[in-house]
Amino acid sequence: MADKRDYYDVLGVSRDASDDEIKKAYRKLSKKYHPDINKEADADKKFKEVTEAYEVLSDSQKRAAYDQYGHAANDPNFNSGFGGFSGGTGGFSGFDDIFDTFFGGSTGSRTSRNPNAPRQGSDLQYTVTLTFEEAIFGKEETINYQRREECHTCHGSGAKPGTSPETCHKCHGSGVTQVERNTPFGRVMTQATCDVCNGTGTEIKEKCPSCHGSGTETHQHSVKVTVPAGVESDQQMRLSGQGEAGTNGGPYGDLYVVFQVKESDKFERDGTEIYYDLPISFSQAALGDEVKVPTVHGNVKLKIPAGTQTNTTFRLKGKGAPSVRGGYTGDQHVTVNVVTPKKLSDKEKELFAELARLSGSDVKGSDSGFFDRIKDVFDK
Ligand SMILES: [Zn+2]
Ligand SMILES: [Zn+2]
Repeated sequence: MADKRDYYDVLGVSRDASDDEIKKAYRKLSKKYHPDINKEADADKKFKEVTEAYEVLSDSQKRAAYDQYGHAANDPNFNSGFGGFSGGTGGFSGFDDIFDTFFGGSTGSRTSRNPNAPRQGSDLQYTVTLTFEEAIFGKEETINYQRREECHTCHGSGAKPGTSPETCHKCHGSGVTQVERNTPFGRVMTQATCDVCNGTGTEIKEKCPSCHGSGTETHQHSVKVTVPAGVESDQQMRLSGQGEAGTNGGPYGDLYVVFQVKESDKFERDGTEIYYDLPISFSQAALGDEVKVPTVHGNVKLKIPAGTQTNTTFRLKGKGAPSVRGGYTGDQHVTVNVVTPKKLSDKEKELFAELARLSGSDVKGSDSGFFDRIKDVFDK
């Protein structure tokens, strides 16, 4: 007993401290040293010391005995006259036994989550749908969504303005209550989460009218999103702190903005490269031409050389999509598709036959094979 620290020193209060001061000091220290929170080797020991000091100083009878006799008042062998306190009547003696029961390896209390630890709010996800062009050039967009925010009336405390959460009257702020049970081996003490405060150690006597004690409320929230140029479907952006409100002073969660890009009826895109199919006529393919080709950057002139084969691809440099990481813009690939006419006028038929004759083919003008052979003429 000689090595025991003075209970008032343990709690850091003066000898004439009020009950409230003792309660406050205990709350602060028990949180600090609670083995669920504090992983330092001696936290357990300190927590026991603090709790022991509080058990004595929060009880006016025990405190009076302690003031008079010091630690000797807590000695089971010391007959102070306070029988109920000295341990002579119970199945355990002294606090060490109690706490061995509380914090023994078999109890789950060590791994239980501390309900007062600050926790970050949940992350949210928001899908932004973009047109093909918007994804290529990027844009600014303000998005609106609902999220839990800190209550503007109570600023998260959950208590009615003008009041504040109070130390739980049942557990005195520790969040746990000690339950004595009778077993065949005698009475044992076990620890349970306080059913008044659900382990938070605080009680809201008068709830905030806006949030009904939760400390958060649903708000319509808007945030400006800068869609990066060159973004593609399923790519996402994290906007830190734009998720839901945290608890116990924890930070807001994040918002994940996921992009979905609509297809274009003209273009195909693969990363920075854009693909475009250009139908041209026989004559354009054979004689060559200069045509206007649409690109996302506007129309571009493309020279079709004489004798261009179907499926030939031309590259329009820098007319693709920018890399979302920046520093590079892809190309547009134009694939020409020579369109075989389906209906010919008599005059046209005459001219094609003439062409065939000039190139030395004997074309009979059968419906099925005729145009294939015409095509062969051009392919030579
Ligand atoms: Zn509120
Ligand atoms: Zn409680």
